[in-house]
Amino acid sequence: MSSLYGRPENIKIPVCEPHLTLQDSAAVVEAIRSTWISGISKTVRDFEKAFAEYCDVKYGVATNSGTTAIHLALSALGVGKGDEVIIPDFTMIATLNPILQLGAKPVLVDCEMEAWNINPKLIEEAITNKTKVIMPVHIYGHPCDMNEINKIASNHNIVVLEDAAEAHGSKYWNKKAGSLGHAACFSFFANKVITTGEGGMIVTNNKNFAKRSLWLGSMGFGKDKHYEHSALGYGYRMSGLQAALGISQVERIGELVAKKRLNAKMYGMMLEKLSDENLIALPLELEYAKNIYWLYSILINPKLNNRDKIATKLAQDYGIETRPFFTPMHKQPFLKKLGLNLGSDDDFACSVTIADSGLNLPSSTRLTGEEITYVCEALRKCMHA
Ligand SMILES: *Cc1c(COP(=O)(O)O)cnc(C)c1O
Repeated sequence: MSSLYGRPENIKIPVCEPHLTLQDSAAVVEAIRSTWISGISKTVRDFEKAFAEYCDVKYGVATNSGTTAIHLALSALGVGKGDEVIIPDFTMIATLNPILQLGAKPVLVDCEMEAWNINPKLIEEAITNKTKVIMPVHIYGHPCDMNEINKIASNHNIVVLEDAAEAHGSKYWNKKAGSLGHAACFSFFANKVITTGEGGMIVTNNKNFAKRSLWLGSMGFGKDKHYEHSALGYGYRMSGLQAALGISQVERIGELVAKKRLNAKMYGMMLEKLSDENLIALPLELEYAKNIYWLYSILINPKLNNRDKIATKLAQDYGIETRPFFTPMHKQPFLKKLGLNLGSDDDFACSVTIADSGLNLPSSTRLTGEEITYVCEALRKCMHA
């Protein structure tokens, strides 16, 4: 299994690696040559413009990670002590942490079993008079059912903030992820659809919210007197070096998204038989969705109870790196230390089931057809062993 600081030597096919080109490196070299490398470079403003435009929204505010984008967006929305934020139980920890760090309470909702996203039918009962924000997450690149979520939110006067960190280019009824709520947060971590190494962005159509986010993320510098601050701001700016890479990546994003979808198409064809035998379940693309398959993800039939064994075998015998699905939020060990109980396994049956049986397969945009064939053949052998 992979560690945070590099992968084992025997791994031949990583789960998801960045895809950088000569054009990308030329862009970064040019940023260095120009000396515009800080977070107040024009390059950063250009990147914000280019990516916001890609998402079909008006404004972008670049940050130094997806996590800080979420923290900043929630902060700019005024989320704090006494507020509640609804998020899926099945997500990555960066959806949850900023809520706690702002002193607010995360309220977890179980996922549905089709696309593994927050179940809209369960949101209503999670709403209280303290609910300020709903943060749906487009898990592994499949958009949430946003019409349902937006309807509930507008009935209760609640803001919808998309966690779109895994969904660059995904569409819901032909509308881009990032344009589906009041605002959205993206990540440009090295394994995301496009990357700046580390990085993130808030996108929105709301001018005042964009301005407030930019200002708060840049330490809330004084408007009248430079070093007089009227808000507790953050140092969350993205550097000019990162933005230069980001601009170059946005130019290639169409091609990268198309390759993710091509990977999925090949996997889908080659794994159909294992799915017909009911040994695995393949990811779906619901009627309303354009799934960008950030990570091509399958469920091993929960009855087999052998996901971890298969992952180990794929790594050891075939040099194939995979990832188990996210550990659900209610199970995170640090919550207990903080004296927090966000629910039990009984409250999140779907989330627990997929977390125990889900596996992300290699999904890099550099994968060749031969490599995908190799992965599918290895998986077939492991499943029939
Ligand atoms: C990657 C990710 C983030 C955080 O992004 P970083 O840039 O790594 O901080 C947030 N939410 C989800 C769902 C993610 O997958």
